[in-house]
Parts: sequence; structure tokens; C-alpha cells
Amino acid sequence: MTAVLSPITGEVIEDVAATTPNGLDAVLRAAEAAAPHWRAVPASERGRLLVEIGRRMRARAAEIAELETLNTGKLPADTRREADRAAACFEYYGGWADKAHGTVVPVPGPFHTYTTREPYGVVAGIIPWNVPYFFAAKKIAPALAFGNAVVLKPAAETPLTALLLGRIVGEVLAEAGHPAGVAQVVHGGGDVGRALVEDPRVRLVVFTGSDATGARVGAAAAAHFAPSALELGGKSPQLVFADADLDAAAAGVVEGFTGSCGQMCIAGSRLYVQREVFPDVLERVARRVGELRVGDPRAAGTQVGPQVTAAQAAKTRAFVDGGTARGARVVARAGTPAEPELAGGNWVAPTVFTGVPAGDPLLTEEVFGPVLCAEPFDDEDDAVRLAHDTRFGLGAGVWTGDPGRAHRLADALRVGTVWVNTYRILSDMVPFGGVGASGYGREGGTDAVHLYTWTKSVWLSTSPGVPAGYRKD
Ligand code: NAD
Repeated sequence: MTAVLSPITGEVIEDVAATTPNGLDAVLRAAEAAAPHWRAVPASERGRLLVEIGRRMRARAAEIAELETLNTGKLPADTRREADRAAACFEYYGGWADKAHGTVVPVPGPFHTYTTREPYGVVAGIIPWNVPYFFAAKKIAPALAFGNAVVLKPAAETPLTALLLGRIVGEVLAEAGHPAGVAQVVHGGGDVGRALVEDPRVRLVVFTGSDATGARVGAAAAAHFAPSALELGGKSPQLVFADADLDAAAAGVVEGFTGSCGQMCIAGSRLYVQREVFPDVLERVARRVGELRVGDPRAAGTQVGPQVTAAQAAKTRAFVDGGTARGARVVARAGTPAEPELAGGNWVAPTVFTGVPAGDPLLTEEVFGPVLCAEPFDDEDDAVRLAHDTRFGLGAGVWTGDPGRAHRLADALRVGTVWVNTYRILSDMVPFGGVGASGYGREGGTDAVHLYTWTKSVWLSTSPGVPAGYRKD
């Protein structure tokens, strides 16, 4: 049993039994047995079932959002949006299921040559603790749509909504007469995740988590020739030019590093501002941060909740204390709640630094907490140079009133997603992923078909008597 704790009060919400090695073996046996069955189900039928799952998820969205807030400490507005997005994800991939097909290739010679898209078989999805329900949907829905069996492992700290999603999916599949092995959710920490990705019965690994774990997961999957997609961390820059709407930029910057209490892979944790407006923008950002209401996410008016775990909160505070001790200057800090009943919560004050020494961990590492480092830049080249001064490449924000500059920057930045005059907007219709230490592979949009299937090529001779090896091109 592992105790699932509330990040708001520190109390136990529920005890959940971890999947044992024997249990995992049974799960993988069931998944392997179910995979050929599910591949043979007509794609349009798979699509209909996914849409039905989405409908049931929508009907329970309020209840699910409440549970997610309890387990993650995220604001109800965020968890409700994620619950709706998770249902929409099933509907979106339900629509995709019968539209993933191959092509006929007009090769020279007496051949009919075509490609088909093949499911992998058993897909393992592994997710972190910051967006458990939506990420569970994002892994399960496309895997099923394109004909795979799927085993999902949420983080040990936040399994509740993913387990609930597993039950909703299982219910719909069982009612339609499909085996439970088609979609299963296991529970446990890194040991269960490692056993899952190391198992040769797993033919594709789709992982979201930190770069350190991602490197291990990618290597473990490659050891038995399973491809992997790694959606990893970031240290994303926000670039504010003097010609931008500075108030909108300041609001976007603050939301970009304090949303989900900073526990976002796409957190805009490095702020670079054109020198002539640097003091002005810093002042606007500092004022907004100073006014943030940090507290119980369920209370009206709260803008920032707690961190998901006590360990993560301690890690974030250590980054802040270390940076301060090494000479970084704090220019703004929000408060934390004083109510005695919240004394056990994982509170961290959103903090803005400037003058962070080059190479300091505050600038180089993903804090995964509400911490921002701000510095000035001189021109576009300087802004791009600073933006690229990281091993990560997940996202970047550009704030400018000049459309030409917006396109130049979008072209120059080596990151998976560029937002211009906005930030942190995502859709299943748009591919998402990173470069460098932010990982590889793309989920979402048309890229999902290529992630969850492989290409088979078929050559068929249309002319009897053409010897094998005939080639004329
Ligand atoms: P983590 O890497 O510690 O854990 C992620 C998941 O991997 C958990 O389920 C964990 O139990 C499992 N795991 C741990 N060791 C494993 C192993 N050896 N083999 C297989 N699985 C293993 O990440 P976290 O601390 O839970 O989450 C925070 C990280 O996730 C941050 O780095 C954040 O940027 C990243 N993240 C990335 C994205 C994205 O889409 N790029 C989105 C959200 C979060």
C-alpha cells in the first residue's frame, strides 16, 4: 500500500495498492493477449468506443476535477479545464481512428506497392505527477485509436484520477465485449516504471517526465529495440521586446511561471527583456507577483496552490535559498498562507530573481517551482543567444508588436513550441514535444499517427513471371 497525500493539508487521502512484479507480469500477459484482438477491431468501431469514453468522462468531469484538485493542489479552474480537455482528447482520437491509413506508391515497374500503418502491440505510457488525468488521457486515447493495447503508469504521488480513468475506459470496453487487457492502469513508483519499460513485451514507450529519468527510460526501451517518445523538462525563455504590449507581456510572464505553482514542463522560467524597458517590465512583473494570492486552491480568489509533494516544495525552496546565498537578488516574492489548518501544506512563495550568476543552478536546472530569473538583452541576436543558453528546448515566448520580428524569432528559436504574444496554450490538434534535453518524438495532431504506428511496405507483382530482384528505376 502507498499512502496518497493531500498537498493542501498533508493528510492521507487514500491508500492504494502498488502493482507487484507478479501483478505486472499478469498485466503484460493480458495486454499481449488482447493486442491482436484490438488490432482486428474495425477502426471505425474503435473510434466509436473512444467517443463513448469521452462522453462518460464529460459526464463526470466535475467530480474528476474535484478529485484532481484534492490530489494535486491545482486550482479547480485548471483541473476542470484539464478534465474537459481529457474528454475532448478521447473524442479527437475517436475521430482519427479510421483516418490513419497508408498510401499507394507509384514505383516504376510491374508492381502495386503500398504502405499500411501498423499498431505496435503493447504500448507503455508513463506520466509524471503534475497533470495526471489529462496526461493519462493523452497516452491512452491515441494508443487505443490506432489499434494498440496500452498499459499506463501514473506517478505514485498522484494516481487517483488516472485509476478512475482506467475504470471508465474498462467499463466501456467490457460492455462492448472487449478484454480488460486492452487498456490497463498500474500503480507504483520508479521500480514499477522501470520493470515496465524493461519488459520486451512492451513494443513502444511513450514517456513524460524529467530529463534524468527520460534518459534511463529511452536507454531501457532501446535495449530491447522498442522505440520511445520522451516528453521531458524545460527551462523555457520568455523574450520581451521594447515594442511589445508590456502589460500583456508582464501578465503572460507571471502566469507562465506561476501556473500550476510552477510545476509545468513549459514553465517560462527565464525572462529576458530588452534593456531599455527592463526596469519597467521588472517592476510590472514584481507588482503582479507581490499581489498573488497563494493558498488553499479550493478557496475563492486563490491564484496559486501548493506544490504536489513535500519533497518538491523542499527542492524548490533549496533552489531559492541556494541562489540567494550565491548572490542572486530577489526582486519580488509572494506570501504563503498563515492559516493553522494549512500548516501541513506544501507551500512555496513565487519568487523573482535578477543578477543570477552565470552557470548558477537557478539558471541551468529545471526548478519545477514558481521561480523566475530575469536579465536584460540588447537586440534580437542577443535575445536568441540567451534563449539558447540551456540544454533544454521545449518552449519559448516572444512578446513583440512587430510581426516581422515575430516570424524572425519563431524561425530562429530551436524549441518545440514558440508562442508569440501568448503563452501556455496547447491543443491536441497541434504536435507537442521538445529538442535537446527536452526529449524527442511528438504527441498530438498528425504526428500522433506516426508515433503510435509503424509503416509496413507491401510490394505486389502485377506481372507473372517477373523474377524476384527485378528492378528498373
Ligand atoms: P520523473 O521523471 O521523476 O517521473 C516521471 C514518471 O516516471 C513517474 O511515473 C515515475 O514513477 C516514473 N519513473 C521513475 N523512474 C523510472 C524509471 N527508471 N523507469 C520508468 N519510469 C520511471 O518526473 P516527475 O518528477 O514525476 O515530473 C516532473 C518532470 O516531468 C519535470 O521534469 C517536467 O518537466 C516533466 N514534464 C514534462 C512534460 C512534457 O510534456 N514535456 C510535461 C509535464 C512534465
